[in-house]
Amino acid sequence: MSGSDDEYFARLDAEKKEKLRAKLEQEAAEAAKEDLRKLHWHRCGKCGSSMETHLFRGVDIEVCQACGAVLLDQGELETLAGHDRSSLFSGIIDLFGGKKAH
Ligand SMILES: [Zn+2]
Repeated sequence: MSGSDDEYFARLDAEKKEKLRAKLEQEAAEAAKEDLRKLHWHRCGKCGSSMETHLFRGVDIEVCQACGAVLLDQGELETLAGHDRSSLFSGIIDLFGGKKAH
């Protein structure tokens, strides 16, 4: 019977190791994500300069101080577009939020 016991414990050990490996992998992925967030926080996605927050039509938008690129948070484009979905905005909203719009 000791043979099957050994097998059982070996399998248990392997499962523990696999769980630990998955946990460490997940922690590493989260740490990498946090590093990226810190590195890019309030930085322009085009030129890397710092972004400045401006209140525009009731929405806080980020504007790059160097190149003028604008960054909108999720839902802000919809807020800016308001009920006017027939214009230029609808095309842009479809581009970014297509899944939500349908
Ligand atoms: Zn920029």
